[in-house]
Amino acid sequence: MKILKFGGTSVADAQNIKRVINIVKDKSQESRLIVVVSALSGVTDLLLKASKEASEKNEHYKEITKLIEQKHLEAIKDLISVNHQSALLSHVKRIINHLETLLDGCFLLGELSARTSDTIAGFGEILSSYIISEAMKHDAELVVETTFKDSRELIITNSSFGKAAVNFEITNQLIADYFHNEGARVTVMPGFVASSMDGNNTTLGRGGSDYTAAILAAATNASDLEIWTDVNGMYTANPRLVKQAQPIRHISYQEAMELSHFGAKVLYPPTIQPVLHLNIPIWIKNTFEPEAFGTYISNENNLQSNPIKGISHIDKITVITLEGSGIIGVSGFSKRLFEALSNENINVIFITQASSEHSICIGILDVDADKAKVAVDKAFEVEISQLRIDPCTIEKNMCIVALVGENMKNHQGLSGKMFSTLGKNNVNIRAIAQGASERNISVVINEKDVQKALNTLHERFFEDNIKQLNLFVMGVGNVGEKFMEQITNQKKYLRENLKINIRLIGVSNSRKMLFDGDGIPLKDWKNLLSDGETADKDAFIERVKALNLRNSVFVDITANDEISKTYSQYLEKNIAVVTCNKIACASAFDNYKNLKNLSRKYNAPFLFETNVGAGLPIIDTLKRMIASGDKINKIQAVLSGSLNFIFNNFNENTSFHDVVKEAGVQGFTEPDPKIDLSGVDVARKILILIRESGYEMEIDDIENKSFLPQASLDTDNVPDFFTSLTANAQHFNDLYKEALAKESRLKYVAQFENGKASVGLQFIPKGHDFYNLEGKDNIVLFYTDRYVDQPLIIKGAGAGAAVTASGIFADVIRVGNV
Ligand code: ADP
Ligand code: ASP
Ligand code: MG
Repeated sequence: MKILKFGGTSVADAQNIKRVINIVKDKSQESRLIVVVSALSGVTDLLLKASKEASEKNEHYKEITKLIEQKHLEAIKDLISVNHQSALLSHVKRIINHLETLLDGCFLLGELSARTSDTIAGFGEILSSYIISEAMKHDAELVVETTFKDSRELIITNSSFGKAAVNFEITNQLIADYFHNEGARVTVMPGFVASSMDGNNTTLGRGGSDYTAAILAAATNASDLEIWTDVNGMYTANPRLVKQAQPIRHISYQEAMELSHFGAKVLYPPTIQPVLHLNIPIWIKNTFEPEAFGTYISNENNLQSNPIKGISHIDKITVITLEGSGIIGVSGFSKRLFEALSNENINVIFITQASSEHSICIGILDVDADKAKVAVDKAFEVEISQLRIDPCTIEKNMCIVALVGENMKNHQGLSGKMFSTLGKNNVNIRAIAQGASERNISVVINEKDVQKALNTLHERFFEDNIKQLNLFVMGVGNVGEKFMEQITNQKKYLRENLKINIRLIGVSNSRKMLFDGDGIPLKDWKNLLSDGETADKDAFIERVKALNLRNSVFVDITANDEISKTYSQYLEKNIAVVTCNKIACASAFDNYKNLKNLSRKYNAPFLFETNVGAGLPIIDTLKRMIASGDKINKIQAVLSGSLNFIFNNFNENTSFHDVVKEAGVQGFTEPDPKIDLSGVDVARKILILIRESGYEMEIDDIENKSFLPQASLDTDNVPDFFTSLTANAQHFNDLYKEALAKESRLKYVAQFENGKASVGLQFIPKGHDFYNLEGKDNIVLFYTDRYVDQPLIIKGAGAGAAVTASGIFADVIRVGNV
């Protein structure tokens, strides 16, 4: 005998039921079968909703009943040929009439007892099993004999309505006798429903059809129990929340039990108990992909290399904490606490007590929270009034996350890894428990963090250490586009070689923004963005926070002041900030310092390599020198790729105006070229280097000897600025001639020495390190305690979209390597 159980989605409609019949057809060749079915998908919820509404005198229940009727009639019409339909339709109509009568009763009385609720909840399985058995009987291809048997006649329980306990002695006997005497090849039975000793309808708890199947498997000593559902087995984590989760091929009863108790809904937790001692293996299979291996649950403990089998979670948890000196050393304290809860029928899911015994912390379901608080405070009324214990505190909307694996006991350091992984992602752990079996380590966290926690833990324990970086990119102009191109081209390499999986989750330009929690297809981001929603920087932040993804990185590729003011909001949420925008680091020292502190406090990298010298590794080098104990004494640099380009191309044959224009066209200047030409940009850069060298300085402390005529400095928009360049052509030509006369070249130099900094145009003589600086190159000379006579020199292209983009990219990779 084999038991096959098909869940709600597997029997959702006629089309799916046909799949089920096909599976049954195949399997019935090998063995006798008992086919246990759930209600059509969603019907149990509808029944419970209808009964609640009826008891609240809400007539809407009638519409729900109609909907339920319609679903079943439709299924019959699509499944069964017209000449066989009428008897079945009238049978189903009779059942629906009975349901309506019960609901009308609830409506008229305005009440719903647990007993009535159970009778109503079971209608879904009664209907589905009957229809499916008829469909099988009339299926031309399923030639084997098929019969229907009502589980309520065989499974006998106590009267705990809602989740009744099975009387195995009677039940096993009834089942064994029935199947001994009746020989149909296939017997279809409803899951979930049973009856009490005194003949009332009961149910086995939500999701209980799995249990029905297990009870039948044990009582018939079946060779296999197969749970057919809508996923390829029991996964390493809930596949709806963790996209990278994989089906577990082999798992022990204990592990499967632990995972299901801790929320892996694919298997109703009590299911394993009846088959465990008989060693009946359980298969979890996918009705929609029957050829997939699925999960094999047995008592074989297979020692695979990963000690963790799965990660599961239970949501809607409340943590109750009881604290006070009155707890210490008092025996019988816990007994009173648990008694108070048990008297209210409150199930305790999680317990921890610090060894100081000063407090005890328990996890229960949110729905029981208020009742529990009243009960516990009442139980300790006397101690509370004497101030020896505080009234208990309750924290709702929490969640338990558990790592499960039989072999965890043989490995050290797993809990350390678990906690540090969560800590790094700013997931606050409220309580911790590890069962003595060491098959499970659980933590209580805030519900809003659950997806992030599951995904990071999954990444840490199952994904070969591949780290997912979730990018939110603001600004996709020249540099931004290049950046997108580079990450698209390198994605595969990064995954394979650096174990970094880059995903673009959000992107925005000044007009539009776009989000996709599953990742925006990199090849198509531009089209998708043009159809995106209206851009809004505050809404952008809110979306990033709400997505609450692990390893999130905000990438600022704008030159925008407002955007630079938002960094703290990201860092405080443990979101890394990578920026080529210099404004924040060159703003008031306190602001710069604050951002660095936030970065440290919230463990969120704040990286801005491209603030100085575009893609050149200047800041990174500086950081390493400082970290290894060097001291920066003097900096001399040509830091403006744009000014360098301009002065290298400006000669007697060109006009200063045209060279500046060309620099803009080639993307070497800021959108407002005055920022470059006035020296502000260079001043910001040297300021950042000075600060990164460990000195405190403000932008106004830097002496700025401008080479621009006053008329150009006085302009307040880009067109006027360009006009002023033409009007003052002579001024620039004179500068050029003077350099020629001195046999030197014009270079815009930034300098820092003895605590003083300046920026300005200089005549650089032949032989100087700066003299031969080409095109748009930058050069920095660091004189340090270790580089005394000969400076450490970093030189190379210091402007341009491609190099800037690659500098941003390098920072993103640094975040990945943290
Ligand atoms: P059925 O109606 O077939 O009984 P359920 O909805 O009860 O199906 O259980 C299957 C669902 O369990 C899956 O669709 C999935 O969303 C959820 N689930 C939660 N955790 C896991 C897990 N670890 N592995 C597989 N499925 C899981
Ligand atoms: N139909 C019931 C429920 O939804 C039982 C089951 O599907 O296992 O809870
Ligand atoms: Mg289920």
